[in-house]
Amino acid sequence: MIAYGWSAKNIKQAPLESYECPHCQQKQSELVIFAKYIHIFWIPVFPIMKTAIIVCNQCKHETEEKAITLGTQSTIKQLKSAVPLPKYMFSGLLLILAAIGYFIYDGMQTDKLELTYLDAPQRRDVYLIKNNEEKTEHKHYLLKVREVAGDSVWVSNSSFNYNGIVSELDPKDGFYDVMYGMHKNDLKEIKKTGDLKKVIRDYSSTAGFDREIEFLETDSMGVE
Ligand SMILES: [Zn+2]
Repeated sequence: MIAYGWSAKNIKQAPLESYECPHCQQKQSELVIFAKYIHIFWIPVFPIMKTAIIVCNQCKHETEEKAITLGTQSTIKQLKSAVPLPKYMFSGLLLILAAIGYFIYDGMQTDKLELTYLDAPQRRDVYLIKNNEEKTEHKHYLLKVREVAGDSVWVSNSSFNYNGIVSELDPKDGFYDVMYGMHKNDLKEIKKTGDLKKVIRDYSSTAGFDREIEFLETDSMGVE
């Protein structure tokens, strides 16, 4: 199965009376113009070039564009540029642009929603944060809101770090049963830097965010 490649489509066919067939010397031919286009899963993405051939009506001999002589070359060039590229040949490109547009729009909507969540934090909110100072690839950790008191947000850390954006905890992971206070503006500052990757609210129990892990002193002292 070929999922992508190029195809050619006949976009114009016109009778030609001046060209002498090199095979049978007859002067009744058809000029055929093709557009080559890139396709992905048979959806045309965009056209790449036009080519022309001359087909003899009598013997069906095909003369390729580069072999066409007798001054018809310039005529063919003019004809080629006069034939518009069918719009459907850009459909894949339009789909791709529409998808990009959608993702950008969706991202902006999510961003707006997350800002309103940070403006009014709620118990059980979960933040996914990237810690760039972490030397390993496990740069992401989660914070869970335990209490909100005025502008203070009391949070607990996840016991694991992750190497990317996750929407659920590892089955062995949970949030520590100890918490510390942050100003909600600090969280908004992290959001501004782009390191607060996700604000998760109204999650299902399968996400594992309700698991609690006992924080032992040895955890903090044993590792590093
Ligand atoms: Zn011929």
